[in-house]
Order: sequence, then structure tokens, then C-alpha cells
Amino acid sequence: MISATAKPSPSQVPVGVDPDRPSIARVYDGFLGGKDNYAVDREVMKKVLQAVPEAADIARGNRGFLNRACRFLAAQTDIDQFLDCGSGLPTAENTHQIVQRANRDAVVVYVDNDPVVLAHGRALLESDEHAYIIEADIFEPATVLAHETVRQRIDFSRPLALLHVGTLHHLEGDSGAIVMKQYIDALAPGSYVVFSHFYDPETSELTPVAKRIEDVLVHGPMGAGRFRSRDQIEAMLPGLEIIKPNAVTEPGLVACYQWWPDGPMLRPPSLAAQCIAGIVARKP
Ligand code: SAM
Repeated sequence: MISATAKPSPSQVPVGVDPDRPSIARVYDGFLGGKDNYAVDREVMKKVLQAVPEAADIARGNRGFLNRACRFLAAQTDIDQFLDCGSGLPTAENTHQIVQRANRDAVVVYVDNDPVVLAHGRALLESDEHAYIIEADIFEPATVLAHETVRQRIDFSRPLALLHVGTLHHLEGDSGAIVMKQYIDALAPGSYVVFSHFYDPETSELTPVAKRIEDVLVHGPMGAGRFRSRDQIEAMLPGLEIIKPNAVTEPGLVACYQWWPDGPMLRPPSLAAQCIAGIVARKP
């Protein structure tokens, strides 16, 4: 575990980790209440919280969505293979733990490029026969899809679940739709895509919230974190049938907290909670 108090000594820092640069995975983990972060990560968190005090609701909403979507796929579909791109640091409920509760033999391949994620992931998965973590750039689909472990463990002639949860907003520019199309093209019919993204709902109340966080992330040392509109996000999932996101809403993008919530909401969502959106969709 990484020291949560002071700058870590060199012996505490895993090989390949720069303790002077914040990491997406460690900042996200910090917002989820994890301890695997450095002073430089907490500095980013502090600035985000100064900009929007309820910003942690974005991370919580995103992770809750991921967990519920995995439970849905494991319980309601026959999907037994999962490619989880941008897995993040292991936390309380990880994809393989959720889906293997429903099916002990479900295969999960995690992909990330953060050295701390890879070190913790390898340690956690050492004793799991059906879950793997590989190092690759998730914005280079051809590399991920051609990776030896991916080819060995995932059968692309059968349906699988592709997870890109909380990832594409870290890709600058307009190539998100191209990246996702390459992944989607590789999926067999009947496959599912679980996707979430920082969301600008384009209202006079919520756009300023999204912009304040984006400003800290994009212009700070993280250098990435774009909030995109409904049209921009849905354009990343071409040709898919979107699963109805709850009992009353027509298929489409919704704020993550609205995607089949676990129970009634007794408190109104914060403004920040409305700025992360998710979709589960099926390839026909
Ligand atoms: N999917 C998890 C979730 O939703 O709870 C974690 C999301 S976290 C915000 C984003 C993850 O994507 C981090 O672990 C980060 O290291 C990883 N990531 C970002 N850019 C990446 C890249 N180009 N290649 C591989 N992983 C990347």
C-alpha cells in the first residue's frame, strides 16, 4: 500500500511510477475513498473539490453503474467473457468478483497502462484462474485486440462484454468514435458494450459544473478529462441496440445514477452526479 500521508520514499514507489505526476487511476481511486494515492494526486483532488465540492459523486456514480451493469450482464445474459478496458485500481467490487459470483468460470481480461494498477492487479489476480490483467494502450484497439493474452482467453467468435467505463473522456480530440468502432467491429453479434463518460448535459445549471471540473483536469497536470454532450457520446456507440436504462426511460444515455438504481432515491442527486453518464448496449 502506498503511503497516504507524505511523499513516498523511493523504496515505496513501484518501478515505472513517477510520484511527481498525478495518475488518472490514483486520483479516481482517491475519489472513491481508496488509499493508493500520492500527494500529487491529492493536490488534483483538492483543486477539483474546490471547483465542485460534490465532485466525488462522479466517481461514485460511475463505479456504481459499472457494478450494476456487471451484475445485469452476469445474471440476465449468457455472457461469460469480459474485456475490461481501463480497469482502474482494484477496489471493493471488481468486474471479475461480480461476474464470477454468477458464473465461477467467467473469464475477465483487464487492460490498463498504469504501473500501480498493473502491480495491484497482478497481485490480486495471482490466484484467479480465469482473470488476467495486461498492459496496453486502450486507445489503440488493434494492439489490445491482438494481444496474446486477449487472443488466448477471449473467443471473439462468441459474444462477449466490452467494458469502456470512465475511459474515453481521457482521450483528447475527436477520435473516440473511431476507437470505439474498431472495438465494436471486432465483437460477435450478441455482444454487449458497457460505456460511461464525463457528461455535459448542456443545461444552464449543469454545463458550468462540467466546465469547472474539465478546466481543472485538462489545464492541470492530468492534462485530460473532457465532458462531452449526449450527441458526442452516443456517436461513440454506432449501430448498437441500447438497453432500456430503467423502468421509465426510453433507451438512450442517462446519468449513471439513473441506470437501474438499486432502490428508490431519497435524496436528490447532486449537480456533479448528473455529469457522468452511462449506456449498456447490445450488438445486433
Ligand atoms: N473502469 C474503471 C471504473 O470505471 O471504475 C476505472 C476508470 S479510471 C477513471 C480510468 C482507467 O483507465 C485508469 O485506471 C487509467 O489508468 C486507465 N487508462 C487511461 N488511459 C489509458 C490508456 N491510454 N491505456 C490504458 N489504460 C488507460
